Amino acid sequence: MKNQTVSIQTEARPFCPLCGERGEMFYSRLKDQLFGAPGEWDLCKCPAGNCGLLWLNPAPVQEDIGKAYQNYYTHGGTGESLMRKCVKTAYTLLSRLPEWTVGLAQARNRMRWLYLDNLFSGKLLDVGCGDGLYLHFMAGKGWKTEGLDFDANALKRARETYGLNVHQSDLFSRHYPAHTFDAVTLRHVIEHLPDPLGVLRECLRILRPGGTLVIVTPNSESLGHGLTHECWRGLEVPRHLQIFSLTSLKLCAGLLGYKPGHFQAFTTATGADFILDESLALQSRGRSDLPHGEQKKTLHWTRTLRAIRLQYREHLSLEKDPSIGEEAVLILNKK
Ligand SMILES: [Zn+2]
Repeated sequence: MKNQTVSIQTEARPFCPLCGERGEMFYSRLKDQLFGAPGEWDLCKCPAGNCGLLWLNPAPVQEDIGKAYQNYYTHGGTGESLMRKCVKTAYTLLSRLPEWTVGLAQARNRMRWLYLDNLFSGKLLDVGCGDGLYLHFMAGKGWKTEGLDFDANALKRARETYGLNVHQSDLFSRHYPAHTFDAVTLRHVIEHLPDPLGVLRECLRILRPGGTLVIVTPNSESLGHGLTHECWRGLEVPRHLQIFSLTSLKLCAGLLGYKPGHFQAFTTATGADFILDESLALQSRGRSDLPHGEQKKTLHWTRTLRAIRLQYREHLSLEKDPSIGEEAVLILNKK
């Protein structure tokens, strides 16, 4: 860990970034238990029934947001030993045998494609591409791919491992012409953005008419959040500036000019094994100051099994209550 003593300057954010309602205190004095960013953080909740967004208030000022990412890694590189990876993979595969019978494997496959599996291949931009595993997969399916991220190390891996066309840049700085892409994807990105709606508008502008925008983000109305409360992995203070839900994603679609029935919004349990395992780990550790990375170096069979069991429960419950998946998905086709 480094630079833990560097404090993050903040600014008040009393009003909902989506609908403008004054927020109500939801969680107070949360610490970054994942990557040790300094400070204690409060989350507000929007009281509007058609919104319910959670957001950081106060939040890091724009020029200090980088300090929240000083020890942050994205997309792998966690330093796990090869032996541990092999044992974990074998264990996970065995635990997942029943998923084919309940449709979870099929749902997982759709997520692997980020829901572009039923489209003809075209030009794809992945915003927040990390080390490019997804773009590499899509390139193999015939898509012409391009990616953006801030993480220089992840981008280096994307270029060196897969030879991908990726840039260390935000979306606006690329100045893409209108109608450039057939699909734009943002997986676990909009919760990090100071202006999520502005970025989504730019995504729609650079899509060709009929092109597809896919957004995947943690779902604050999930089963896992209901079970683990302030230890839920999806909160990730102070890097998640806001946390959406199925309700608030539908509001986003409305604010972008889409009427109900003219977009797809749903939740999924496909990433629940990871999110629940991490949430249960944080919960069992309580609010101590031990780094999360140390906790992750040991295997916890019973916890991982519990996470997988909860994932099945969540997946099977989605038919009855479609709002409780760990991740929420919004798919817009440009008008
Ligand atoms: Zn709101």
